[in-house]
Amino acid sequence: MSRIVYVNGDYLPEDEARVSVFDRGFLFADGVYEVTSVLGGKLLDFAGHAKRLQRSLDELEMANPVTEDELLAIHRELVSRNGIEDGLVYLQVTRGAADRDFAYPKDAKPTLVLFTQSKPGLADSPVAKSGLKVISIPDIRWGRRDIKTVQLLYPSMGKMAAKKAGADDAWMIEDGFVTEGTSNNAYIVTGNRIITRHLGNEILHGITRAAVLRFAREAQMEVEERAFTLDEAKAADEAFITSASMFVMPVVEIDSVKLGDGTPGPVATRLREIYLEESRQAAV
Ligand code: PMP
Repeated sequence: MSRIVYVNGDYLPEDEARVSVFDRGFLFADGVYEVTSVLGGKLLDFAGHAKRLQRSLDELEMANPVTEDELLAIHRELVSRNGIEDGLVYLQVTRGAADRDFAYPKDAKPTLVLFTQSKPGLADSPVAKSGLKVISIPDIRWGRRDIKTVQLLYPSMGKMAAKKAGADDAWMIEDGFVTEGTSNNAYIVTGNRIITRHLGNEILHGITRAAVLRFAREAQMEVEERAFTLDEAKAADEAFITSASMFVMPVVEIDSVKLGDGTPGPVATRLREIYLEESRQAAV
């Protein structure tokens, strides 16, 4: 079955969907995106993703082509038309098509594209039992990582470097401190304390991060939001990452240094359970 995708108001078979070669998303990476997970046919944390989308658009002075209610309806329609039980909805807004010019065009119409990815058993990934291996790479991205733009080439390169090194992902390092993973937020656990970088322009404000920190505090876990060094991470009792598609995923090795006994730690494992349980309950 070919997917049905959404492009600027139309639901189309994926091979009939078209975007202009003059689209600024294509020419300038002048676009922002969101990825929302689907479990049991329902959307996880949709409101959080819609809010961050609006923030990304505002920071780039880009118009939002739809209201939050319309966006929710489009998500639901795609989930339903594609029979998604577990998977992802990808959404991208670009500034639209215009003759090539660095200055923002005055009257371009934003492009809105959404598509689904079916991932049966998304929440039962065997990786959650074995944990991820990460390598460290320098963070050479631009200075507005809080805006969720489609400029993802360096994270792609980082992922490839990790694969070549026999690892699963890369953590990015700036001035000795861990910023985040290629497509996720990074955490360490020392004693009973969960440490993750504070919010700022240096990292993406993860929707999963916000939820997980809230659940951790509600469960009386200690949370410290501050930058931590790569050395501190390698000496930590455990580590994990969060993202909309991976939820909470344990990290068991950093640059070939095993954390603890080299298996997923109790804090990451517990947080994953809590996150999945709470998010499923609140899903729309
Ligand atoms: N940081 C980066 C760089 C990311 O790309 C992502 C996922 N898109 C995240 C963090 C995690 O954000 P979220 O929990 O909203 O998926």
